[in-house]
Amino acid sequence: MTKTSELILGEIRQGLVVGMHRRTCELRFVETWDCNSDPEVARYSPTIDLGGESHLTVGDQVQVAQESGSGEWYVTQLFPRRSKLSRPGPPDREHREQLLASNVDCIVLVGSAADPAFNPGFVERYLMVAQHSEIPLALVLNKMDLTQELPESLAELTKYIDQVIFTSAKDGRGLDDLTEYLKDKSSIFTGQSGVGKSTLIQAIIPGIELDTTQVREKDGKGRHTTTTSTVFSLPEGGQVIDSPGIRGLGFWNLSKVELAWMYPLFIDWVGECKFQDCKHSQEPGCRVLKALDEGDLSQRAYDSYQRMLESLLEER
Ligand code: GDP
Ligand code: ZN
Repeated sequence: MTKTSELILGEIRQGLVVGMHRRTCELRFVETWDCNSDPEVARYSPTIDLGGESHLTVGDQVQVAQESGSGEWYVTQLFPRRSKLSRPGPPDREHREQLLASNVDCIVLVGSAADPAFNPGFVERYLMVAQHSEIPLALVLNKMDLTQELPESLAELTKYIDQVIFTSAKDGRGLDDLTEYLKDKSSIFTGQSGVGKSTLIQAIIPGIELDTTQVREKDGKGRHTTTTSTVFSLPEGGQVIDSPGIRGLGFWNLSKVELAWMYPLFIDWVGECKFQDCKHSQEPGCRVLKALDEGDLSQRAYDSYQRMLESLLEER
């Protein structure tokens, strides 16, 4: 292996990390961005300055230097992160926080008004991550050409959502609002398969080729495409990160007590339950049950919480 002292580093550039591997990362250069080309691969320099962070993640801004001889790129420095998208680790891993992305300004959850039907449980799960990371969540409700009706559950969720944007990638409605919202932000796009994420991205970024991941899967280079995010730069400024890692977020592993604290639609009341570890099931002095009783909380939201609670492991 090459020692640091032997590395003669030439050209220095700034890059955006779009994929992570054990010893290398994939990045795009900030100045010469082409969404349709393969990202560069860079190794970590042995003297990398992480500024106190433990590792790199998607969304990181880094300095890279090219080794004069081999032409290989080395990451030499991590620039300070302005935000971190993370979730608490699973209970059996001592809650070590899992960092999913950095420098994210908003999570854009795409849902559809019909086909597939709107899924409020999905919104609730992403709201937990958004609230935990203190990053705003926007909801794009796509396929508005298919129905006149708004999902009943939308009203009570809206309160916790930064902005709801109604779109149709088919007839074009709301695309200007979406473009405006995304402008100059770094957004993570996510949502169930089939809701129209790719169609929307194609509609707002002219000339984009969306199946670059599949192409790379077939080109025999043996890359781990599943961990590589696709990053699109927006014509008006800003970028959209389509991250496979984030899509699994709906299924994270909390303990029951954590869920009881974090379930986003209870946020106004959990602090007022009599018991700190209240699971809002039948405990005396439960403020959430009172809200349910008084009609401030919907039965739908409460049932959704109960289903999530039942699906979780007992805490140890
Ligand atoms: P993704 O899995 O979220 O990326 O979804 P796709 O973009 O692949 O879209 C899934 C299907 O929904 C495709 O057949 C699209 O043509 C269709 N679709 C996407 N957006 C709309 C829309 O606004 N209205 C209607 N009617 N169909 C849409
Ligand atoms: Zn309670």
